[in-house]
Amino acid sequence: MEIAYFNGKFLPKDEIKISPDDRGFLFADGIYEVMKWYEGFFYDKESHLARMKRGLREIRINWPEEDTFPIFANELINRNRLSDSQALIYLQVTRGVAPRTHSFPDPEVNPTIYAFVKEFRSTGIVPGSGVKVMLKEDIRWSRCDIKSVALLANILSFQEAHEKGFNECIFVRNGMITEGSRSNIFFVIDGTLYTHPESEHILSGVTRKNILRIAKEAGITAKEEPLPEKKLGIIHEAFITNTSAEVTPVIAINKLTVGNGMPGPVTMLIHKSFNAGIIALKG
Ligand code: PMP
Repeated sequence: MEIAYFNGKFLPKDEIKISPDDRGFLFADGIYEVMKWYEGFFYDKESHLARMKRGLREIRINWPEEDTFPIFANELINRNRLSDSQALIYLQVTRGVAPRTHSFPDPEVNPTIYAFVKEFRSTGIVPGSGVKVMLKEDIRWSRCDIKSVALLANILSFQEAHEKGFNECIFVRNGMITEGSRSNIFFVIDGTLYTHPESEHILSGVTRKNILRIAKEAGITAKEEPLPEKKLGIIHEAFITNTSAEVTPVIAINKLTVGNGMPGPVTMLIHKSFNAGIIALKG
């Protein structure tokens, strides 16, 4: 039986009832967070917790027990017998239940807290393989730094990519490549790594941050600079990152083959170092 967390309680998932007046349902008025469990620990849970807290502050949701997230996350892993597996935890916090009106509930109501875990193992990089991505105008709002549950623009863009046979949609805003619909993107030009700087146009990915650290440790120069779409012709490698899939090589962007159509050496080195870091954390 799948056990989920709902407003302080551990319950069978199918017994959880969310009010039709929940502002998450009515307005997508909330944030979410996803962390990965690696057979014994959540990878960089401090950064996930910090991003969650920042998101709550930015959208002015007050959750006094916000520091309990890692604690009930662990408990969910245990109760679902996933301690020895790899798994993802999904957390959602909404502004709570109140009659529908745009202004915040007054008096304030308790936020709605919902979390579930599911077993998930990334496939890693299959030798010689990679994904194809599609470019599209960034139709999202101007606060992509908030991990908002309002993902309609991401969903429509990803679905279009999916229907056209691509694995991800990469956004372009004012001629600059920002990020994917569910990932950050990195490019390699002459051995130097490039990724969009932190700003309101990208989500500050926890994986992105760790890849920048890993690159530095490996002596790879990394520049947080946006890549203009028109410079795509000069890139040697590209990869996307997120919590679930970690590091995924990109071998084609629209009709452009990246490098020789195979994951490049810098991508492979970073992927290897990321995995070595996980193994080291397992001790
Ligand atoms: N950008 C977007 C739009 C995303 O949805 C995600 C995945 N949550 C990321 C970047 C990557 O973030 P992280 O590495 O923290 O999973």
